[in-house]
Amino acid sequence: MIWEDLQAEIDALQRAGLKRSRRTLEMPCGPLARVDGRELVSFCSNDYLGLANDPALVEAACAGAQAWGVGSGASHLVSGHLAPHAALEEKLAAFTGFARALLFSTGYMANLAIVPALVGRRDAVFADRLNHASLIDAAQLSRADNQRYPHGDIVALERLLAGSRARRKLILTDAVFSMDGDLAPLPALLALAERFDAWLVVDDAHGFGVLGPQGRGSLAYFQLPTARRLIYMGTLGKAAGASGAFVAADATVVEWLEQRARTYVFTTAGSPLIACALAASVDLIADGESRRQRLWQLTAQLRDGLAGTRWRLLPSPTAIQPIVIGDNHEVLRVAGALYERGLWVPAIRPPTVPAGSARLRVSLSAAHSAEQVDRLLHALRELA
Ligand SMILES: *Cc1c(COP(=O)(O)O)cnc(C)c1O
Repeated sequence: MIWEDLQAEIDALQRAGLKRSRRTLEMPCGPLARVDGRELVSFCSNDYLGLANDPALVEAACAGAQAWGVGSGASHLVSGHLAPHAALEEKLAAFTGFARALLFSTGYMANLAIVPALVGRRDAVFADRLNHASLIDAAQLSRADNQRYPHGDIVALERLLAGSRARRKLILTDAVFSMDGDLAPLPALLALAERFDAWLVVDDAHGFGVLGPQGRGSLAYFQLPTARRLIYMGTLGKAAGASGAFVAADATVVEWLEQRARTYVFTTAGSPLIACALAASVDLIADGESRRQRLWQLTAQLRDGLAGTRWRLLPSPTAIQPIVIGDNHEVLRVAGALYERGLWVPAIRPPTVPAGSARLRVSLSAAHSAEQVDRLLHALRELA
């Protein structure tokens, strides 16, 4: 019976240290969290600039609700495309330097839009092995030949591209890898795309708002021109502090997505009040140099503080600072011990990361204080 099968699988997850459980937060997203009445310092969120609960965003959302209501009422192509959506798309296109931008409800849906809309059975995708689940699913959904290359391995990718007879070729990569915090070699990837007549899809979920001048993202960080073969996906639920995503690209590519991408056409447009909040968020990002400076200071403080201890930090230059522990039960034990000390750091286990590489994923925010990072350092040194 299906119920017994499912229960047996759930029990197996429990035994393997792989069962997840949610904690319910009793206050808004921020460096402090309250769970079951207990106050904790949280190092879990992707709210890198501390915008999720910023007063200016809250105010823009309230004003947006007053002016535009709560719901959009329909999909973008029917009647759900409101003036705040249109204004936000223009703002995002200008900010990232592309001809056009198209809004999506989530980054997951944006990735599911791009790949099947652009490639099919006679085509091939070339994907970094550590790409986000949404890019992996997008590649499968497209039915294109799915070739995966070892993480960041330009030489292996070059070999795959050189051997491909596919009609269209799409290279897929996270710009900042979500569980490792390292950067994809975007200039080399774009050079390969140019050489082999391929497109390059860059998922900048963790770079948009954080990296590059004014937080314009990973392409700006690498000073890459907005080439026609680049398709840029930025999410709006991480550094931007709200929810949603956008694809920015050449006008023809965006027009095609608007016509044909199934996760664009067959879904209700996002709330206009979120679009209003996001317009304010883009301004805060552009003027957010001091927030980004603070984020880099805290990141350096954490890395310096753990140097020479038994904790193995991955070589990450971003606010995602994973400490690899390996064993699923051990990572849960360490995360539990930190939690007992009032410090909430997520234990990331397979299938989110490869088997045997379970880790604590410390993520920092400009809203953290140096004292909070010190508390984490102190506890980790004690547990070492
Ligand atoms: C979070 C994330 C996504 C999904 O974005 P959502 O807006 O949360 O759906 C896509 N790609 C990467 C690399 C991510 O980290």
